[in-house]
Amino acid sequence: MKQLIIAAALLASMAGSALAADSQAPSDDHPLLREIGQDVSADELHATIEHLVGFGTRHTLSDTTSDTRGIGAARRWVKARFEAIGAACGGCLKIETPTDLVSGDRIPKPTEIMDVLAIQTGTTDPNRVVVISGHLDSRVSDVMNATSDAPGANDDGSGVAEVIEAARVLSRHRYAATIVYAVLQGEEQNLYGGALLAKYATAQGWQVEADLNNDIDGNIHGLSGVIDNTHVRVFSEGTKATESPAQADRRRYNGGEVDSPSRQLARFMDGLADRYLTNMSVRMVYRTDRFSRGSDQVRMLEAGYPAVRVTEAVENYTRQHQDVRTEGGVAYGDVISGVDFPYLAQVTRLNAITLASLASAPPPPQEVKIEGAVSPDTKVSWAPSADAAGYRVWWRDTTDARWRYSRWAWHADSLTLKGVVIDDWFFGVSAVSGDGWESPVEFPGPAGAFFSPPPAPAKAP
Ligand SMILES: [Zn+2]
Repeated sequence: MKQLIIAAALLASMAGSALAADSQAPSDDHPLLREIGQDVSADELHATIEHLVGFGTRHTLSDTTSDTRGIGAARRWVKARFEAIGAACGGCLKIETPTDLVSGDRIPKPTEIMDVLAIQTGTTDPNRVVVISGHLDSRVSDVMNATSDAPGANDDGSGVAEVIEAARVLSRHRYAATIVYAVLQGEEQNLYGGALLAKYATAQGWQVEADLNNDIDGNIHGLSGVIDNTHVRVFSEGTKATESPAQADRRRYNGGEVDSPSRQLARFMDGLADRYLTNMSVRMVYRTDRFSRGSDQVRMLEAGYPAVRVTEAVENYTRQHQDVRTEGGVAYGDVISGVDFPYLAQVTRLNAITLASLASAPPPPQEVKIEGAVSPDTKVSWAPSADAAGYRVWWRDTTDARWRYSRWAWHADSLTLKGVVIDDWFFGVSAVSGDGWESPVEFPGPAGAFFSPPPAPAKAP
């Protein structure tokens, strides 16, 4: 009987939440996102990957002087594409090419690593940055082979094509925050381009809210025979790479092991896919990346920046990191016929609507706190954000993968949830603009903070 009464109280609090939302909340349906989705073109993605494959190899140690073959020609072509897209939007893109002279693991002699960035500066919050990235370099079976044909159509021609297509489509509109379209280099040699991007972001003093790193996004034929063109995997770290031992102690005790900002980005994308994409769902994977494998987002995480890895639902290892050949009747190699363009367009849509949403919304609230031990209520508080018209306090069962219940708090910096016991739920807060754009949810304390104090310098790659 007692249990029934508690359940009734909870239902009542949920009904109250729905009523508040109906009477005060701005519409959270955004036609802009549907327009962006419709503008993404499989043909554009195909044309980009065809061009990239045409450079023969894009190995990090390959030729940089030829106009037709090697990483140098490929970098210059990407830069020219960004310039053309920038010209079409009246100069809305600033092109930057940070470089680093690198030697070390898999780079025997000092070699120039160059990222090609197109920066679309935000209208009202330009220092807050959301990034989409993919890597330009490619490889064959021997990671040091810089001369053999390494088409890299899917790894990571697919990611580069998505970055360029996102720039083409998103640059038709303006956003509060800055969007950075990042084509990285040196991933296959040891994530050098990701490290360079993190270093550049830190040097600029960017407040990085997200890096959506796209690597291997276009295959639908799994090696096991499974065909999947309706899911995309989003990998996110559970706890911050930059967490201090003292923070880890508190987090271990009070929870937060599945609530890093990286994880909130994955949830944010999952929700957008459910709402705005047809026949496409996010499969969240609670790992930083695939088992014992990685990509450039790892360097961003090490620098304290929230990041996720976006990748196809099923992989085909005969098409990754392989010399192009036929052996025992099996065709090996990362050739363009292994890329499914309608599927890649779906993954691109997910990226594009995520970037547009993040950049249109206010930043997630900062200094989120919860109080209420040995009380029947929980008080959730946060630092007010100049750009937010209101906030949404979220809670969920501690074993839930997604935020479930919410209540609006307008023009406030705290909300007390009556009858919601602090011990039994996880809590978070999002910020909402006057026109209904909602940020990702931020979990309380250092474990969940999107914007950490300046991080320690990134580990040497
Ligand atoms: Zn890759």
